[in-house]
This record gives sequence, structure tokens and C-alpha cells, in this order.
Amino acid sequence: MANADTDPAHRPSSARIYDALLGGNHNFAADREAAQHLLAAIPGAGEMARANRAFLHRAVRFLLDRGIRQFLDIGSGIPTVGNVHEVAQRRAPDARVVYVDIDPVAVAHSNDILKDNPSAVAVQADMRFPEAVLEHPSVRALLDLDQPVGLLLVAVLHFVPDDDAYAAVARLRAALPAGSYIVISHGVLEIVEDAATEQVTALYRRTDVSAAHGRTRAQILRFFGDAALVPPGLVWVHEWPDGGDGEPHGMAVVAAVGQV
Ligand code: SAM
Repeated sequence: MANADTDPAHRPSSARIYDALLGGNHNFAADREAAQHLLAAIPGAGEMARANRAFLHRAVRFLLDRGIRQFLDIGSGIPTVGNVHEVAQRRAPDARVVYVDIDPVAVAHSNDILKDNPSAVAVQADMRFPEAVLEHPSVRALLDLDQPVGLLLVAVLHFVPDDDAYAAVARLRAALPAGSYIVISHGVLEIVEDAATEQVTALYRRTDVSAAHGRTRAQILRFFGDAALVPPGLVWVHEWPDGGDGEPHGMAVVAAVGQV
């Protein structure tokens, strides 16, 4: 019999909570309940998820304009409208995409959608072990790591504790050839009330990820290492790349793109 802590019907997952926030239907009652708790703590969470998704689309189109034809999307989540391979292959049919997620449900749904697409695949892996990602047979088969890659770390790093996150991103960055890009969006600490942060941390402790870790802008910038930030740099997620009035407008997520 399934254990209540491991059965996906009982234990919420960060991928399925996000799917529920986006109005998707690949989630269970426990995920929907967790999404409701998240919305109680951060009422703008649904809007943030949609703004984050819109940023992902803009960033992929930006990379395509810069000639990027292969994408490594880590923490890719459950497929929803405007998946990276759809955005990329619409403009560049030769674009190749490897999705990586820790969540088996997200990976299964992704591979279901991708079964007739030879240029995109999803693999289950934990980004805290970047060697396992880089050496994965599907990554090796589909991506040429001697050619520029778009590394997408969109709304995932706040689920990874410091010790693992900085080391893992440094290893992934080191594997990218010159001309590659790193795309990051990340929950930021500055506008969320402490009480809400505590509620969100407690909520995610019940999921498959250890917790949600908002970071400061300086801490988020560290993930880029020596990569040169594309203008306008690290900004509220809805303001990339066109800028705006610099006000969060309810967002607690910032984003940037850097060139390696
Ligand atoms: N990147 C997508 C987007 O921005 O629309 C989905 C973001 S969703 C909020 C975060 C995803 O990160 C979830 O699907 C979760 O399963 C995944 N994730 C969390 N920790 C991870 C880890 N250590 N390794 C790989 N994926 C992870």
C-alpha cells in the first residue's frame, strides 16, 4: 500500500503545486490544498507563476534570436501552455531541448507529450547532482556541449539549499562553452513578509523539495559567476528585458540572463 509520505496523491510536490497555481490539471488534491495555503500566504502567487512563465517564453525567444539552438531546461516542471520546445521549435524547427526535473510525474507527462518529437526529451534527475545531469545519456545524445547552450534555471533554485545550489550551478556553468547563456528566475526576499516566508517554508517542507529559499539579489547574482548580464540585468520578472518603473507590482520574483 502507498505510504502517505511518498504517494503523490497524499504528498504535495513543488511541480504540481506550480501546475495548480497555473490552472493546470496535472495535480492531486494535496497539491491543490497546498496551492491554496500558498495563495493565503502570498496572494499574488498565481500571478507570479504566470509572469514567470511569460518571462521564460521571452528569454527563450531572446536566446533563439542570439542563435541558440539547444536548451537544457532544469526544473522544467509539468508541461503546460508554451513549453520550451514549442516556443523554440516554432521559430527554429532544428532546436533541441532536454527537460530535467526531480518530479517523476512531471517527467512522465513531459515524455508523453514528447513521444513523437525526436528533438526533445525529459529526464528525471536532481540538479544537486550536476554530474548526473551532464552525463545523462539523453543529455549526451541530444545536446552538443561543444556548441552554445541555453541553460534554463527558471524558478527552481529557490528550492535548492545554498551548499548544493552554488556548487551545482558552478559545475553546470563550467560545462557550458563560450557563447552559452544562463537564464535564471528566483524568489527574492525583499518584499515578502517574514510571517509569509515562514508559512511558505513550512509548506514546502512537506513536499519533495527541502524548502523554498528566497534569496537576496546579491545572493541570486552569485549564480551567474563571471557570466556577463544582458541588459537590463537582474530585474523584477515582469520587467525583463524591457524595463519598467522598478516597482514589484506584487511580484516576489526577479530574473536575469547572462552570457558565459
Ligand atoms: N521552470 C518551470 C517554470 O518556471 O515554469 C517550472 C518551475 S516549478 C516552480 C519548479 C520545478 O523545479 C518543479 O517542477 C520541481 O519539481 C523542480 N525541482 C525542484 N528541485 C529540483 C531539483 N533539485 N532538481 C531538479 N528539479 C527540481
